[in-house]
Amino acid sequence: MSRKTGIVKDARYLQHSMGFAHPESPERLTAIYQMLDNPQMSWKFTTIEPREATHQEIETIHAPSYVEFIASTAGKRSVYLDPDTSTCAESYATAKLAVGGLCNAIDSVMEGKVNNAFAFVRPPGHHAEKDSAAGFCIFNNIAIGAMHAICKYNLKRILIADWDLHHGNGTQHSFYGDQRVLYFSTHQYPYYPGTGSLQETGRGVGEYYTVNVPLSIGAGDASFVKIFRKILQPVAMQYKPDLILLSAGFDTYFQDPLGGMRVTPEGFAAMTRILLNIADACCQGRFVVTLEGGYHLDGLKKSIKAVLEEMLDETNFSEERFSSLEKDDNEEVNQIINKIISRVGPYWKSVIRGE
Ligand SMILES: [Zn+2]
Repeated sequence: MSRKTGIVKDARYLQHSMGFAHPESPERLTAIYQMLDNPQMSWKFTTIEPREATHQEIETIHAPSYVEFIASTAGKRSVYLDPDTSTCAESYATAKLAVGGLCNAIDSVMEGKVNNAFAFVRPPGHHAEKDSAAGFCIFNNIAIGAMHAICKYNLKRILIADWDLHHGNGTQHSFYGDQRVLYFSTHQYPYYPGTGSLQETGRGVGEYYTVNVPLSIGAGDASFVKIFRKILQPVAMQYKPDLILLSAGFDTYFQDPLGGMRVTPEGFAAMTRILLNIADACCQGRFVVTLEGGYHLDGLKKSIKAVLEEMLDETNFSEERFSSLEKDDNEEVNQIINKIISRVGPYWKSVIRGE
């Protein structure tokens, strides 16, 4: 069985620029689009047209005053939002198009036009907070996308996985006291933005609906695959999401200039396969990916190609392949897995049973 995969890509996503030599550059998408437009690739995908999200949609996560402030940057040459994040004349429109592109990808999957989808959009979103931009992010695309799915389709449970190098502080805070979204993140720690300790597990009715896996510099395929299999998979199988969203950052790639992790395209493929297996078991394969970080252009192309091959079901990811990937793990990863099991195991009993 092959799957139908939708992709969001649009030249307008190249219009947002934070200036010469900024790592979150339009060239990131140029490289990805070049790979997708290759005649051997392009025929495989269904194109999903993006649209600009409305203020009403954006305000499900962001304060109206913040949205107005970003709107006021339109047409201005450069406005600094934080030391790492700035706008140009087109950034406001591009940021709305990033949110709307992801919402349209979610619609295509929810309406059964495609099985899964990848939104190749920028600016990224997972650091953006209710009333502030941060870490190259303006609007929190994935958090707004989750709210879009909750409001439009009345979904009760959405899993957001986030394998970006950095912790998605904005996404975590958006749903910290909320059971409708389970936020699971692996990230280098301690590192930017500083949040994401394993003690942060949610509050009130949202207690245990945030699961953080802070990792030391140098973690590679074995660690990520083992964590996805021993923590994410059992938690998700107990949670039974109606939809899975993924913040896919590729700054954990082994040659990324901003990161110190050692993930290879094979590792990204394995993590994708685990998420697809959960989606098959829980929600008819419904899986929508949005681009976050990743600053090594060739690494982006290779890693994303490997992710898409899984989404299209072009591969056969056997148990042996998982086991051989897991083999190179280290004692530190087993320790962090045990710490997380003792922290969230009382609630997510499936992690103790190892299901
Ligand atoms: Zn990142």
